[in-house]
Amino acid sequence: MACDISARQKPKIAISACLLGAEVRFNGGHKESRLCSQALSEHFDFVPLCPEVAIGLGIPRQPIRLIGDPAQPQALGSVDSSLDVTRPLHDYGVAMAAAHTDICGYIFMQKSPSCGLERVKVYQDGGRPAELSGRGIYAQAFCAAHPDLPVEEDGRLNDPVLRENFLTRVYAYSTWQQLLRAGITRRSLTEFHACYKYQLMAHHPEQYKILGTMLGNLGKNDPREIAPQYFSELMKALKKCATRRTHTNVLQHISGYLKQFISPEDKQEVQYLIGQYLHGIVPLIVPLTLLKHHFRLHPDPYISRQVYLQPHPENLSLRNAI
Ligand code: SF4
Repeated sequence: MACDISARQKPKIAISACLLGAEVRFNGGHKESRLCSQALSEHFDFVPLCPEVAIGLGIPRQPIRLIGDPAQPQALGSVDSSLDVTRPLHDYGVAMAAAHTDICGYIFMQKSPSCGLERVKVYQDGGRPAELSGRGIYAQAFCAAHPDLPVEEDGRLNDPVLRENFLTRVYAYSTWQQLLRAGITRRSLTEFHACYKYQLMAHHPEQYKILGTMLGNLGKNDPREIAPQYFSELMKALKKCATRRTHTNVLQHISGYLKQFISPEDKQEVQYLIGQYLHGIVPLIVPLTLLKHHFRLHPDPYISRQVYLQPHPENLSLRNAI
């Protein structure tokens, strides 16, 4: 099945090289993230990239920093401000974005004037940071070329909700790339949307309806024309984190498919665990495991293809922590 992730090759994720333990920082050190170098490396093929080393800055080197307008800063040497690497970092971002079209996500090192995604300090003439912060020059150029690519900073991945959200999007991106390789058809697009029904409902119920209408209005138009816009909107919707309330709503909908098949006692148990989840007493994996158990005994063809039941590999244990 198109949306099934079980038989999938490991998705590729680009990553700031220092996060994997490469000693490429200005001081010859690294910023290894155990989450990335150990827990996630089993599931993803990492593509480590260090823009500062790639553009020829040595190790060790003087640190660079962002200066000027936070919306369009320059990257200058912090010791010798005549060193201006704005253009080389930007060009390297453009070149890497063109070279790595098979990645499904990017994990950036936070606060870096090259790799930082958000809240990077931008210094002013007096030497103080501006109130507004900026984005690293390389990250800005890379992301502009891949606006739908899931991107995240290492620090934010320590938050279980953000981590689960990011990896859900990585697998959605990987599924979509597979669809593109197979060739978009009216049928494959409609099926993809059907598989993402409950996942979308958990993230952004309104957007699920809007995307359904977009496909419903396809008429005689070529589905390949609408596909990029559809996918862009889908990725924006998935970026919104699902909450206990929206997950509960989805669990209730899914449990409705069992009502003809399970006993009143089993229904009561399902409702009890959904309630326990809503009130933060048990994690999402608990009611989901019970629901999956019942669907193994009473399979439903519509539910069995729902991405929501398994948006990422089970042994990543992402739903044990949310
Ligand atoms: S943050 Fe980016 S530029 Fe800096 S050392 Fe890490 S990979 Fe290299």
